[in-house]
Amino acid sequence: MLDTLPWLRDAARRLHALLPDGRCRLCALPSRAPLCSACQCALRRAPAWSCARCAVELPAPAACCGTCALRPPAYARTAAWGDYAAPLDRLVACIKHGDDPVLARWLGRLLAQSLRAQWPPRLPPARCVVPMPMAPAALRRRGYNQAWELALGVARELGCGADCGLLRRRREGPAQSSLPLARRGANMRGAFEARAVPRGTRVLLVDDVMTSGASAEHAARALLRAGAAEVAVAVLLRTPPPPWV
Ligand SMILES: [Zn+2]
Ligand SMILES: [Zn+2]
Repeated sequence: MLDTLPWLRDAARRLHALLPDGRCRLCALPSRAPLCSACQCALRRAPAWSCARCAVELPAPAACCGTCALRPPAYARTAAWGDYAAPLDRLVACIKHGDDPVLARWLGRLLAQSLRAQWPPRLPPARCVVPMPMAPAALRRRGYNQAWELALGVARELGCGADCGLLRRRREGPAQSSLPLARRGANMRGAFEARAVPRGTRVLLVDDVMTSGASAEHAARALLRAGAAEVAVAVLLRTPPPPWV
């Protein structure tokens, strides 16, 4: 009986998520989808200019931002569906702390649709979708990795495979969100390892939020060391830049 309890709890949670109260999670207007179409359109990210490498919004047209021009990241490009700001930050709280895998997969599909619109058709996003891994201890505590659920939605929409075992987090350090931006790179150094990637594989790394890009940078380095031909990044939400002066 005890063995069946987690399964039953998981099934009940999924059933509940499939049968929402028929309201948009953000504006509470009637909606069959987790977000109503008005919220999807109004809140989707549409900066006039953004960095092709890290997706940060730019104040004027340029190929990439100053940071990426000075020190090009290991990943080839980044796309984001929305900005990590109110009210969309509530969605991350829902999938991270509300334990809502169905919502995460639905958002993953939305993210994949925006990838198609942002990246030219001659740039197929990936042959393998990989979630940003959590440290094993953190995964045991939370019970699931929201990036994996997002990645499953992305992979299904793009019609390619997803692999949660390709990239592994070696150790658990302080949460990136608890550190100042300047210390996030050092916190991630050596944090990831990847098993051998089949030759020529383009990897799409999926995460919920990108702020400094340090996690993506070190994860991409590990994947490239393991043989990936290219790493691109897809994040649900991108932290907006500080106000321009
Ligand atoms: Zn709405
Ligand atoms: Zn950039």
